[in-house]
Amino acid sequence: MSHASNIVHCTGPGDPHALDGISRRHRSGNLDLLCPTCGGYGQWNTQIDLVSNRSIRHACPKCDGRGWIETGDDMVPSHDIERSEAGHPVWTVRLDPSDDRE
Ligand SMILES: [Zn+2]
Repeated sequence: MSHASNIVHCTGPGDPHALDGISRRHRSGNLDLLCPTCGGYGQWNTQIDLVSNRSIRHACPKCDGRGWIETGDDMVPSHDIERSEAGHPVWTVRLDPSDDRE
């Protein structure tokens, strides 16, 4: 039994349907600018089935999926896992110097 599908391939965030189902990221911390590559979405579809809306997504390499970039000297938040005092892994936000100053 075959299911209907209508798969579209996208080469970048400017392609039709590349941003279907993806919402713009909220600004976090002191990041300065909407990412010029993904326009603040942080990721885009490289492949999407317009019938089922299943998609394969690609994280933006310019902003590391944050949607925003830092142009000054502020620290850039990134998610990390630490071990709590009880020994369980917990999500935390680590601040790193920006490696993308312009
Ligand atoms: Zn981006």
